[in-house]
Amino acid sequence: MKTKNHVFSNKDITVTYNPKICINAERCALELSNVFRQSVIPWIDLEADSNENIINQVKKCPSGALQFCMNKKEAC
Ligand code: SF4
Repeated sequence: MKTKNHVFSNKDITVTYNPKICINAERCALELSNVFRQSVIPWIDLEADSNENIINQVKKCPSGALQFCMNKKEAC
């Protein structure tokens, strides 16, 4: 069964989360907890930090469950 990505956007970036490949290492929640929140829905708040910090954290996701794209330059 295919699991749909969860999609979060602010005016500049879109972040997608694929729960099927997340290895629950919690790196995102531990290192940028104001954005990648535990026990809060929606769990990703793209207004809580700079786009640069969010993008840098997404790039550190060990499983690739988190991805991002720029809203104006690419279709997500
Ligand atoms: S960093 Fe990636 S693999 Fe780790 S909990 Fe977050 S989304 Fe899942």
